[in-house]
Amino acid sequence: MGTIEREDGLLKDEKCHICGEIKATGYWAGDTGAFCVCQRCAIETLPILIVDSLNYYYLKDLTRLDNVLTQIKEVFWKTAFTRVMVNAREKDKEKGER
Ligand SMILES: [Zn+2]
Repeated sequence: MGTIEREDGLLKDEKCHICGEIKATGYWAGDTGAFCVCQRCAIETLPILIVDSLNYYYLKDLTRLDNVLTQIKEVFWKTAFTRVMVNAREKDKEKGER
């Protein structure tokens, strides 16, 4: 998984595999190849996929469902924080190379 701008260029012109319209900005290195997603689908469609991927055990109980959302938020914030830190480190490195 990663951002298209950070990978080695093979996916730089890849369209989103969900909508097929917009240039992808992120990807998941799946078992059968990269699954590329644009920002719009990441925000509007992937949450639907998450819910559709849950089995009825979670869906029938609001407490369990809320626990899933808590787990999702933990992963979201951990990933967002890591991305910000990596980007900041790269910016500092670029400044040092000038
Ligand atoms: Zn899309």
